[in-house]
Amino acid sequence: MATDQLSAETVKYLADKQIPQLFEFLYHETLLTRPTDLIGHLLTLLKTKPVPKIVVMGPPLGGKTAQCERIVAKYGVVHISTGDLLRKELTTGSALAKQIQSTMNAGSLVSDQIVVQLVKDRLQSQECKEKGWLLDGFPRTRVQALSLQQVGVIPSCVIVLDVPSDLIVDRAEGRRVDPKTGRVYHVKSNPPPAGLEVEQRPDDSASAVSVRLSNYTTNLADIEECYSSVSVHVNGGRTEEEIANEITEQIDARVGR
Ligand code: ADP
Repeated sequence: MATDQLSAETVKYLADKQIPQLFEFLYHETLLTRPTDLIGHLLTLLKTKPVPKIVVMGPPLGGKTAQCERIVAKYGVVHISTGDLLRKELTTGSALAKQIQSTMNAGSLVSDQIVVQLVKDRLQSQECKEKGWLLDGFPRTRVQALSLQQVGVIPSCVIVLDVPSDLIVDRAEGRRVDPKTGRVYHVKSNPPPAGLEVEQRPDDSASAVSVRLSNYTTNLADIEECYSSVSVHVNGGRTEEEIANEITEQIDARVGR
């Protein structure tokens, strides 16, 4: 609906009550379920409390991990990080691991087909249906975004972290990871405890970071187009706390009817 023909009061009402999001939710759920008893189905949906369905996008080393951890702690949603899922797969030595190892080390994108299947499997779990979910690092291409839409998966909120590129380069050079726990440190701003053996991720090399950054920048607009009604940009060049506070405000404004 073109909102420029509506009065300011009506636009405010629509926004306050989140009416576009509500109708979009009912529309997609109905298409997904195709119930015989349409009205009964709609009434049940309206009585069910919606769960948060959040996507966080941001450049590599843009501080996504820290923000995602906070979101998971605050909203109790299931954290689905495709990077973590793929890195876990690498440790299994499976045929799939061999297939994706060199792609990941170079900082390139793993094929849409593999990642989409991984995510779809997780989203179908009962836990995701009950608690809601947070997608971290997915979708990374338009094909991935569309494949979610095709199965009726529509996020209620898409956070896009905007981070200056000089910050990213500094983080790439200094980032270290504890291979045992996955904890992330930075040699200057958050040094690992003395004696702890930490590693640099193979894809944090300057060349791999540049590939990752370029993939992200190239695909962002195409992905965002799929989420125009629910996406919001957050300035990721501030303190972790400030960013987290704004993300919370944005999620609260969009999640829940
Ligand atoms: P970052 O966001 O810092 O690049 P991630 O941990 O999210 O790191 O991802 C690490 C790597 O895993 C990516 O460089 C890519 O090879 C692979 N990967 C993660 N998510 C996806 C995805 N949605 N599609 C394709 N490849 C992915």
